[in-house]
Amino acid sequence: MGENLQVLAVQISHFEAFELYTVVRCAECGKCWGVIGKTRNCPHCGNPTGDNLQIVSVAENASDLQREVAIANMPENLRDELKEKLPRAIEMNENPSASLLYSCIRTSAIDDVINLNRLSGVLRGKGISVQAEEVAEEAVAQGLLIRRDEKSYLLLQ
Ligand SMILES: [Zn+2]
Repeated sequence: MGENLQVLAVQISHFEAFELYTVVRCAECGKCWGVIGKTRNCPHCGNPTGDNLQIVSVAENASDLQREVAIANMPENLRDELKEKLPRAIEMNENPSASLLYSCIRTSAIDDVINLNRLSGVLRGKGISVQAEEVAEEAVAQGLLIRRDEKSYLLLQ
């Protein structure tokens, strides 16, 4: 088991603890679906997923999850159109408030560590179009985070 896969396993067990819904992508057929905690076989192709899963997004409730899965399974060129048609459970947010961004940072923290990939998933789940690194660097500027390494930050408060 490589280091990345261990990280993924740890993340999934933490999703379980926080009861967050995760949108994952099958490495075999490329389709997405939602899980809480661990997942077994791909519901699209039946491939045993094991550790070979990509976390696409994180949602906080079932309706957000449905929307995220629907969007993730659309061909790239149809996604924008689909986003227009789906009920706006999540408004696309280009100028999110500082408090919303901070709540995303908190949601993505595991033991006070914020991983950029996970923060990115939480931001997408909220419909926020700002890059995770930009959000994190702004929080660093405000003294909320410190940079830990290339891909993660430490929550200070
Ligand atoms: Zn599959």
